[in-house]
Amino acid sequence: MSTIRLDKYLSDAGVGTRSQVKSYIRKGLVTVNGYIVKQPELKINTGQDIITFKNDVIALSDFDYYILNKPAGYVSATRDNLAPTVLSLLDTNRKDLFPVGRLDKDTEGLLLITNDGTLAHRLLSPRSHVDKTYYAILDGCVTESDVILFASGVEIGDEDLDTAMPSRLEILASPLKLISSYYNENVPLNDSLGYVMITIQEGKYHQVKRMFQAINRKVLYLRRMSFGPITLSDELAPGQYRRLSDEEIARLLSARPAL
Ligand code: URA
Repeated sequence: MSTIRLDKYLSDAGVGTRSQVKSYIRKGLVTVNGYIVKQPELKINTGQDIITFKNDVIALSDFDYYILNKPAGYVSATRDNLAPTVLSLLDTNRKDLFPVGRLDKDTEGLLLITNDGTLAHRLLSPRSHVDKTYYAILDGCVTESDVILFASGVEIGDEDLDTAMPSRLEILASPLKLISSYYNENVPLNDSLGYVMITIQEGKYHQVKRMFQAINRKVLYLRRMSFGPITLSDELAPGQYRRLSDEEIARLLSARPAL
């Protein structure tokens, strides 16, 4: 049991955003232990007090699922001595959340955050073959022969053999228009760069960067666009996050490969 503000409890339970639930509370739509309460700041005891919204009892779910648009500069870990972690971007009391897999510190984009270990394990297992699609800006162009090579499995090992599973490489004619990104703000785009979308089903260390290194290309910018059935839309600026909807969670629970 812990103590938490009433408006935070309701928004953590998915009733609405913090400002929406404040307005619901002020309108008298929320009760605590049978009494209408109009103070969003009231402290309640989770697991003990009974909260209702429009007469429905509101319980905190055991599992939480978030989608975060990870900005560059944050590490995908629960703690780090040197850099801020992705968890520091979330306004929540939960201490058991963790990122589903890792994005490099300089990588942006879609990161799932949950406390559902079973789901995370399944999504990350190489045997689950869940697609992850990345947008990459390269220091030069790639060709159709690279597309064929990636489709058959490119060798990314240093000394030991390490072949990446078949992946789908799509060459883009022009850069994507991103609402905001480290790359847009720090490095001007120019005609000599390569713009691609790449879909992989594994999550090996620096996998995408090593795949392009294998064809003598350097990844200048990397952003994860989708993870299985979940896609990052422009609605979330870097650093912003939201809860996954029930429908998105259901789709994740039954994620299957598309390749
Ligand atoms: N591949 C990489 O090289 N880096 C990432 O952050 C994700 C995939």
